[in-house]
Order: sequence, then C-alpha cells, then structure tokens
Amino acid sequence: MKPIVKVKNLEKSFQNKKAVDGLSFELNEGEILGLLGPNGAGKSTTINILSTILAPDKGEVTFFGRRLSEDSNLIKNWIGIVPQEIAIFEDISTEKNVRFFGGLYGLEKSKLNENVKEALELVGLYDKKDELPKTFSGGMKRRLNIACALVHQPRVLIMDEPTVGIDPQSRNHILESIKLLL
Ligand code: ADP
Repeated sequence: MKPIVKVKNLEKSFQNKKAVDGLSFELNEGEILGLLGPNGAGKSTTINILSTILAPDKGEVTFFGRRLSEDSNLIKNWIGIVPQEIAIFEDISTEKNVRFFGGLYGLEKSKLNENVKEALELVGLYDKKDELPKTFSGGMKRRLNIACALVHQPRVLIMDEPTVGIDPQSRNHILESIKLLL
C-alpha cells in the first residue's frame, strides 16, 4: 500500500531553536495518526507545515505522491484543517458558517447544499443549523469547526488538539465522528 502522506527528515527552527528536528513518518489510507509529545515538542509546528501555513527549513512532505513544496495549491484542496484556535464566525448561523467555508472551495450550489447538510449531520449539529455559534459551548464550537473543515470533502483531515478543554460529551462525539469518516 502506498502512503497517502509522507514526511521525511522534516526540520524547522525559530531563531536558531529547533522546533522540529528530523521528523519522518508515513500515513496510509484509513489510518488515524496522532502526534504525541510534551508542550513545545513541535506538534503544532509540524501540523502548520502540513497545513501549508509554515515552510520547513529542510525535509520533504508529500500528499498522494505530490510534493507540498511544488503543488501546495492542489494539495490545499485535498486537506481539511481544524486549527488549535477555533476559527468560526460567532454572529452568523451555524449553517452559514459551513456554507462560507464550502464557498471558498468553489463548490457549486447543489453540491454545497448537500455537503453542508452532511457535514453538520456528522458532527451532530444539523438540528442547530439556524442558531448562532456565540450561544454554543466550547465543544459545540469545535464540532462546528470540524464541519467547516470537512465541507469540501477533503481526502485528509488535520486537527490540532481537537478535544482539548472541552466537555466529555463533545469529546466523545468528536472521536466517534472521526471514526465514521474512515
Ligand atoms: P507543541 O505543539 O508540541 O506544544 P510547538 O510546535 O508549538 O510545540 O512549539 C515547538 C517549539 O517551537 C517551542 O519551543 C515553541 O516555543 C517554538 N515556537 C513555535 N512557534 C514559534 C514561533 N512562531 N516563533 C518562535 N518560536 C516558536
């Protein structure tokens, strides 16, 4: 089986301090990979490189055999990102949030409608589609953020600490819905 994500000898420093030092791993289709390590180990830096937010100093990242350094625009269509800091609009409806992110990927209207519904159902927020996120708990906001990351149907979902600081019910819901994606 060919790995769908390949990371080889990745290095990144900030002001001469190594944040990532020669990291290599592979991810196969249908796998969930977690990066574990203490604070400052370089997990977010790695995720930011994979998400094309940061450029590495050295090393290579490929998604489905294409190099991130050469084909980042193509790869951006293939990945969904759930950042550590929740990134949603608090004052527009849940559905409009997901629709906005889907629109960024240029989905045509009927496909967008279908995907918005599917993403909200997956995270268990379809019945709250007309509500404003500012009324939500941290866990519900996180679930909405996941729906926003999934609406364009990415081939790889990248999440930075998706269950940190949230209620156990949302935590379980997030972990269960991720398994449903496999
Ligand atoms: P983790 O996510 O595992 O807690 P990070 O990737 O956030 O670790 O950080 C790894 C190291 O890089 C830490 O020492 C952190 O202080 C440093 N670092 C991360 N981002 C920056 C930045 N933008 N500027 C300077 N140092 C940074």
